[in-house]
Amino acid sequence: MALLTVLTDENPRLRLKSQKITKFDKALRELAVNMLETMDDSNGIGLAAPQVGVLKRLIVIHIPADLAFEGSPEFSAVVVNPEVVKGSGEQIGEEGCLSVPGWFGEVKRYFAVTVRGRDIYGKEIRIKADGWPSRCLQHEIDHLDGIIFTDKITDPSTLHKVEPKEEAAEEELAKVN
Ligand code: ZN
Repeated sequence: MALLTVLTDENPRLRLKSQKITKFDKALRELAVNMLETMDDSNGIGLAAPQVGVLKRLIVIHIPADLAFEGSPEFSAVVVNPEVVKGSGEQIGEEGCLSVPGWFGEVKRYFAVTVRGRDIYGKEIRIKADGWPSRCLQHEIDHLDGIIFTDKITDPSTLHKVEPKEEAAEEELAKVN
């Protein structure tokens, strides 16, 4: 297992279209494990292979129960060649991205999606999700086509940066108080 470097949005590789995966081998499983480890280490809830510089259609997601986004239950997924085959309703909510550190903004997405793809062993899978898991699936699948959430901001005035320093300072202040 190894931590991978997450590319940030000035890197042109993030804008390329990723290739379909045809080999379900040990190297693919290692990539998935390393992506999960990298995502957890960065406190992310989702990661797509192009974000670690690998232009292959693989996404990993883990929304821990303790984050409880808008009441969503815990959700995990590792999907190879994921495709949104059905989308319905809409939701507008704030997103961030490990490749756009510190930035957040509101994005409109389908409320519910059906995603088709394969598991890490090549078996066909179909995932139905709504709310946060659905948003996360759509965000990660966009990465496979070179799309970053900032391309889809609903209202530019919602895009804002949270400085890690400010967060740390606030925590310090909280400790003092
Ligand atoms: Zn992202």
